[in-house]
Order: sequence, then structure tokens, then C-alpha cells
Amino acid sequence: MEIIGNSGNISKVKLWCTFHPTQTNKEAFLKNCTTLYEKGIEFCVGAVGVPKNIADILVREELKLVSENIYFWINAMEGMGRAYTEEEIEQLSGADPFFRLELLEYKADSDLCTSGRERIFVDGMGNISACNISRMKLGNIYEGFSEAEEGNGVQGNIAEKINGEFYEGNIEENVKENCVIENCLLGNSLEGNVTENCDVGNCASKRKICAAERCNCYLSYCSRTDIPELFLFGDNEFIRIPQGIKAVFFDIDGTLTDDSGNITQSQKQLVETLSHHCRVFLATSLPYSYAKETCAEIWEFISGGSFAEGSDLRVFGEYKRVVPLDGNIVGNIAGNKAVFYKEDEILHKITFLHRLGNNVISELRKYFSVSEQGNITGITNISATKLSGIIDIMGFLNMEEKSIAVVGNSENDIPMLKYFSNSITVGNAEKCAEIHGKYKLDGFVFSRRK
Ligand code: SF4
Repeated sequence: MEIIGNSGNISKVKLWCTFHPTQTNKEAFLKNCTTLYEKGIEFCVGAVGVPKNIADILVREELKLVSENIYFWINAMEGMGRAYTEEEIEQLSGADPFFRLELLEYKADSDLCTSGRERIFVDGMGNISACNISRMKLGNIYEGFSEAEEGNGVQGNIAEKINGEFYEGNIEENVKENCVIENCLLGNSLEGNVTENCDVGNCASKRKICAAERCNCYLSYCSRTDIPELFLFGDNEFIRIPQGIKAVFFDIDGTLTDDSGNITQSQKQLVETLSHHCRVFLATSLPYSYAKETCAEIWEFISGGSFAEGSDLRVFGEYKRVVPLDGNIVGNIAGNKAVFYKEDEILHKITFLHRLGNNVISELRKYFSVSEQGNITGITNISATKLSGIIDIMGFLNMEEKSIAVVGNSENDIPMLKYFSNSITVGNAEKCAEIHGKYKLDGFVFSRRK
């Protein structure tokens, strides 16, 4: 604590703190938590879920007095000799909403984790492995890859070298010599057909980075690509600090749906999972009825949305606001088919089914909010946009900007992607939108844009 208090760049410090009731008491532990919080250091706090100690380990309520935002995790106890009872699970999940992740069986599969490629584990001796339990040494930061003097560390990018980008040229010539993975099939023996066994460039070592049977601790399973809950940890999942997201706004077309306009299986699973931990909203140019039809499969998990380009705002059962539009404009735009959208008898959006001329659109933009998708042009009140709708709902819910995440894929998502710090684009996003997303979401994998 003194070191942290007196020197160093604390913005670079993130701590994973464990409460061991046999080693310290609640008061002393909470005092240290308060100090960390006051110093502005990000940290999580947790304990092992020992059934007989449940009452002692639950410092959750006391932590809330320090800050509502400190995450309290609970690890499942190893070697307990029995399963947790449903009552214990309920009790522990009440303190840690992600406790049930601890109870799942994750069969180790390095194709389903990012360890060894996007991250590595380095022990105190400098030994590198994919993760803390993968049981295969990939190298050593002092020896493995360095051309510098011993102790000067690795030159270049370790992950790249492990990843196989190290291997250039002829596979047969280079693999044996350059393979850095101990016990690697190819590094030790070139028996069999090398090209079958090795997809260098997409390195063979990918297949040989892990000898574990299960990813049975948080530090390992937080690298998995098949756990939708990790979305809520953003790129802090490794240090086990959730991002404090309270609401996620999803665009529909191309973000939740595939090319055929159907909600993808992974997005369905993601939305359902998120809805157990935070509110899920839609932010769409689609009018409410179309949005409901498109999202029928996930509708039960949706809390409301910014519909019809922010002109129809809803928090189901709590809030509704329609932003009116002056319909007289249509009379001035001759020769175009238009659809009028009303809610509670209030006109709020007009959609033109043919592309309007550039001059007409420029003129309209002076007085209205105009969105274009293919040949369809949508007109709403100048104050109504996807973004303004989200901000309106955020105000109603009394949420802060940083507790909102937005997910989009296309040009008309750019304003919301630019406004929110938790901005995410999906894997197939348009380039113009992608550059405004801080994070990228592929399936459930959440990565910071480089
Ligand atoms: S044990 Fe580690 S390296 Fe192996 S599959 Fe699990 S997370 Fe990946």
C-alpha cells in the first residue's frame, strides 16, 4: 500500500484481491479496499466459496459501502468432495452474479480459447505457457526468443513468434529448427507428413499449446471464446473486473441479423445471457412493429429501445415517448411513394421507398433527420436519431455514459459508436463503422481494436 501510495503510475495497476478469513479479518481487509478505492486503483475482490465459511466470506455488503462498483467474485472450492447444494449456489450467486460460470465443465480445447495467441502466461522464472494450467512450456522470456543478452528480455513480439508468424519460407526446413514449443510434434520429430500436421503461417503449434484436460479455473476459462458472459468484462476479463455495463443497445440489421435477415444463433445466445445481467435494448431505424417481428426469437429478453431512428422510444412498462414529425413535407416531394409511421396517432417517421435525389436529400437535411439504407430514405424529426434516442433512455434510467454499451455495424451507427466509450462493432461491420468501434465482437470474443 505504501509503495502504491508513494510512487508509480497507478493507472497501470489493476489488482485481483482475495479475502482469506484465516489470514486476516474483515475490518483490516476492508480498510485496504477503501485505501485502494481512494487511490483510484481498479481492483476486484473475492474469496473461495467454502460452504462452512459462507457467512464469513461474504463481504459483499460491506464492500458496497466502499463502492457499489467493486466486483466481488467467488471461486468454486476444489476438492470439496460433493457438489454445492442449490441453496448454496443461490447464496453464492447472490454475491457473485457470475458464480455459476465456476460450476460449468470446460473441456480444454485450444481452438476455443485465445491463450497462446492473444495472451500468454509467464511464471516467475520467465517460463511461457498458453495459460496458467496448460502444462506446456512455449519458451522462456529470458532465453526462448531473445537474441539480446540473457536477462534483457524478448525482442519483438512474443505472441507473434509463438503464433507462427515466426516461420517464414519452407515449412520442412524451418519448422524443426525454429519451433519453440517443447514437446511439439513437429519440433521434436518430423515424422509423417509435415504439411498435414502443420499449418504454419497459422502455426502448427496452435494445435500443441495445451495439455490440460479442462479449463478449470477462472484464469484459464476467461480466455475461452464460447462464454457470452465475458462480454461484460470487456477487455478486463483477464483481471476479472467487469466493465459495469448496465444496458447494451444493439442495432438490428447486420448486427443481430445475418445476410438473410435472421437473428444469428450466437447473437441469440448473447442477448439471452446479457439479459440476465443487464438490460438489453434495440437501437434501430426499423419501426417498432418491424423490429418486434425481426426480433421475435429474442423479444422476451428485450427491455425496450430507440426505434424508428430514435423517434419512438420505449422502456417497456416504464416509459414511452414519441418524437413528432411534420407530415406536410411529403406534399413537397412529388412522385415518391411514402409510408407513414404513427404511434398513439402521432406521426413520427416517413419512409420513402425510392431513392430521393441528392438535391432533395440535402434540402431535407436542413430541417429533418435523414437516414438512408439502400434505396430507402427515412425522415424523422431533426432531433430524432438513434443516438438521441439512446441518450433519452439513458437519462430516463439515470445511467451514466460509461454504463452503456452500443453494438453496431454500419454507417448509421457511427454517431452512437463515436459517442459511447463502450462502442462495439461486429465482425462483419462496414469499414466506415468499424473504425469508430473501440472494441470488436466476433461471436462472443471481445477484443480491443488495435
Ligand atoms: S487450459 Fe488454457 S490453453 Fe488449454 S484450452 Fe483451456 S484456456 Fe486454453
